[in-house]
Amino acid sequence: MADIEHLRSLLKAHPDFPKKGIVFLDIFPILRDPVAFESLITHFVYHLTSHTIPQSPSKKVDVVVALDARGFLLGPVIAMRLGAAFVPVRKKGKLPGECVTATYEKEYGSNRKDSFEMQADAIQPGQNVVIIDDLIATGGSAKAAGQLVSQLGGKVIEYLFIIELLFLKGAQRLDAPVYSMVKTD
Ligand code: IMP
Repeated sequence: MADIEHLRSLLKAHPDFPKKGIVFLDIFPILRDPVAFESLITHFVYHLTSHTIPQSPSKKVDVVVALDARGFLLGPVIAMRLGAAFVPVRKKGKLPGECVTATYEKEYGSNRKDSFEMQADAIQPGQNVVIIDDLIATGGSAKAAGQLVSQLGGKVIEYLFIIELLFLKGAQRLDAPVYSMVKTD
């Protein structure tokens, strides 16, 4: 618990970024501190290997999916530690080969849409998948990532975030348990 408090203290709030009214929480100070970064990764790996996933005790993680772009800083390291595959979800048009697509709201407070893609051969039917990103706000982007996994026949067993913005109730939009290390209003 002391570790979580230390990690929380490293998160930096930037008011009015990227636009007025939004308080942007920056995870990069954690990555600048190698001991803190190690503790962050170990925290997630311990969670995923200690059978604490609700509804899915003792299920082995086959695939770690991470979201463009800050999820990519966490997903590959966690996947490697678990001995799982790493699969990226990228913004439309960035991945080669056949892809599946899902749309999501671009940013909270706007109706603008964007699309995520995943390579069609990245997940095999029946595989257990966790989805990771730095932060859940409205849950729209994580939900789209979950839809991509489902389109390929994978089973999302948990969504993981460093930070959850509770007031936006994003977790309620997701179809699997949510684990967030730091919850904030
Ligand atoms: P959602 O789709 O509304 O849940 O937004 C989550 C996405 O927006 C994630 O990919 C985050 O990286 C990004 N995001 C939104 N607000 C913040 C923030 O305060 N800090 C870092 N990322 C944010």
